[in-house]
Amino acid sequence: AEKNPELASVLKSADLVLPDGIGIVYAARLQGTPVKERVPGIEFSMAALEMLAQRGKSVFLFGSKPGTAQQAARKLAEKLPGLVIAGCEHGYFKPEEEASIVERINGSGADFLCVALGSPKQELFLARHRHELNVKAAIGVGGSLDIWSGNLKRAPQFYRKHGLEWLYRLIQEPSRAGRMARLPLFLVKAAVGKKEDQNG
Ligand code: UDP
Repeated sequence: AEKNPELASVLKSADLVLPDGIGIVYAARLQGTPVKERVPGIEFSMAALEMLAQRGKSVFLFGSKPGTAQQAARKLAEKLPGLVIAGCEHGYFKPEEEASIVERINGSGADFLCVALGSPKQELFLARHRHELNVKAAIGVGGSLDIWSGNLKRAPQFYRKHGLEWLYRLIQEPSRAGRMARLPLFLVKAAVGKKEDQNG
């Protein structure tokens, strides 16, 4: 968001922003505005799906590789009887296909939308279309469909408890190394930013 003003403004205008990463938790502490704990988006989204299931409401799963959303839909339907899967769509599309994806989501009549395009694609997609989407709520879920489909494993409890979920993900997906290498710099900036605020 620091380098992408559009993303920064989307984050500011969102109804809800979760401290999903341990880096955010540390940075908030360094800035003197601590958050109580990490809130993984995947857990928040699952709780939302459980609530929808209890009420017989529907969800549209959009994003991840072809087939993954359908696999996740099957697993979710088994785990959460009552949840209606309104539709699925993979996340590898051309810009000119975006309008028809929005139409399909609206045509499905879904109550809730999970967008799994990674960040910042999912946030920007939601910001671009929030006024034309008819769903009642939508959330960016990152790699959650990969987990719900069973294609990737979530970090075991030990890693989650000790703020090491990122390490487990790095082992499973070494291509994340580049972006992760930038995180220590983010923490330094959070610490320095606080000092600058205090001085000026
Ligand atoms: N993805 C997608 N379309 C794209 C790029 C990514 O559907 O153009 C999917 C990808 O298959 C994966 C998810 O978005 O399922 C990215 O998850 P990740 O956890 O890496 O998200 P991030 O941590 O970047 O928010």
